[in-house]
Amino acid sequence: MIIQMKLDATKKQYEKITKDFRNKGYQIKDVSSNTIFVFGLIGDTKSLTENDIFVYEGVAKVTRIQTPFKKASRRLSKTDSVIKIGSDVKIGGGNFQIIAGPCSVESEDQFRIIAKTIKDAGGKIIRGGSYKPRTSPYSFQGLEKKGLEIMRKISNEFGLKIVSEIPSSDKLEEFERLVDMIQVGARNMQNFYLLKELGKSKKPIILKRGLSSTIEEWLLAAEYIIHHGNPNVILCERGIRTFENYTRNTLDLSAVLAVKELSHLPIIVDPSHASGKNWMVEKLSLAAVSVGSDGVMIEIHNDPETALSDGAQSLNLEQYIKTENKISKFREMLNLKT
Ligand code: PEP
Ligand code: MN
Repeated sequence: MIIQMKLDATKKQYEKITKDFRNKGYQIKDVSSNTIFVFGLIGDTKSLTENDIFVYEGVAKVTRIQTPFKKASRRLSKTDSVIKIGSDVKIGGGNFQIIAGPCSVESEDQFRIIAKTIKDAGGKIIRGGSYKPRTSPYSFQGLEKKGLEIMRKISNEFGLKIVSEIPSSDKLEEFERLVDMIQVGARNMQNFYLLKELGKSKKPIILKRGLSSTIEEWLLAAEYIIHHGNPNVILCERGIRTFENYTRNTLDLSAVLAVKELSHLPIIVDPSHASGKNWMVEKLSLAAVSVGSDGVMIEIHNDPETALSDGAQSLNLEQYIKTENKISKFREMLNLKT
């Protein structure tokens, strides 16, 4: 950290802050000039916040050199992490997955038709919401445990892996038993207690970006899970809130590039929740491939018009097959691995 004091800061103020941090075990590298006190604070600064510095009188500016996240950081590993789902499915390090499925699991029949389509198209992972975080308490809330049981049964029939969103830590035991991969939804990205509990799990975690979270906050959320014991984290960019309301959210594709620079973790893109419009999903998926995403997560439905949630952003099965094909061809064209 570089700490710059105010132009009118006194020698006494400078000596106070540097002495305190020396006593805490940090090294101080003085780079002051005739007109301004400046110093480098060297040591393990990850537990320090800017407030811990600004609390001292005379501080003008604090600049971090190292990121506040360590285990999620690119510094930890130059090679990309590859996350395994079961023994045979991988995401990251050139392994790309198209994760598709309905917003909500609605019935066994609905889930079976969708699962068959995904399997026939060569997909390996199916998504489905069972505990739905809905804005209105009057909207369909999901089939809850019954939905997870349907997902487990059908995916066993087809040999698919499943991912579903966990609503809270009291459901962890149920998710451990029934799903292959646990999703943390945008609204829960900063539920730190939940993140700590997920650190105790061995299951891969898809961590969606919070509605209005910065990339740093998102990587710190990943750090919580890793720090508490589970390194199997996959980030998912799903659009952020901006002033624009033509689309449901604003897809921040530059976040994929930023995350690749800052972290070794895989990152996938969800163009469905980002745009809210099914006709944008294919093109945004190709754009996600272009920027180096490790996968996409797409909402699909056998009859979007009657879907109990998010029908407008869901591809029908025919559109999904077409999109899956386009993505695969595009990846081949770019000479990307799997
Ligand atoms: C979802 O994937 O079903 C979902 C609710 O997404 P998000 O948390 O990104 O809104
Ligand atoms: Mn949805």
